[in-house]
Amino acid sequence: MPLTSSFEMTMLLKHMLRVNITVLALLLACAALVSCDSAKPNQAESARIRTKLEAIPLDQKVQFTNDEWKYILTGCQYYVLRRRGTELPFANAYWHTHEKGIYFCAACGNPLFSSDAKYDSGTGWPSFWQPIGGDAVSAASHSSFSGGTEIMCARCGSHLGHVFDDGPRPSGLRYCMNSAALKFVKAVGN
Ligand code: FE
Repeated sequence: MPLTSSFEMTMLLKHMLRVNITVLALLLACAALVSCDSAKPNQAESARIRTKLEAIPLDQKVQFTNDEWKYILTGCQYYVLRRRGTELPFANAYWHTHEKGIYFCAACGNPLFSSDAKYDSGTGWPSFWQPIGGDAVSAASHSSFSGGTEIMCARCGSHLGHVFDDGPRPSGLRYCMNSAALKFVKAVGN
């Protein structure tokens, strides 16, 4: 190959390399823009659903679809609350919590349990001998395979855990809850 042609070939290759790098940079920029654009509607939808939830008075039921819950719950919360999942014992947020305060539904914010009714059941899950009020939780009409009865938040229907009849006095009940289904708020001064 003549020298001039070789030189021209080298220049051509360098030019093609620059063009390819430019094209690659443009493609990466486009991909970043697309991913940002796809995140924006999700954030907007999360904010919209949160606002919708906050506008519902506490004494009214919350009836959201699972698709709506997905926007405002973490993966772990969704698994427990909406898919009836169970978290691991001794490896969850509140099994060993002894502070004074209120445990709210992690989905809808309904007050569910007071720390006054919490006790150490030895199971590794947060356990209570009674809900904070008679209408805070609802129970399934049949026992589950574990021998307990499924307990849901009475306001939003989300799964919380199970109740068993081996609890302490005075109720004799053990509300065995998932930490992921709860949000603990410490009492002022604690
Ligand atoms: Fe709830």
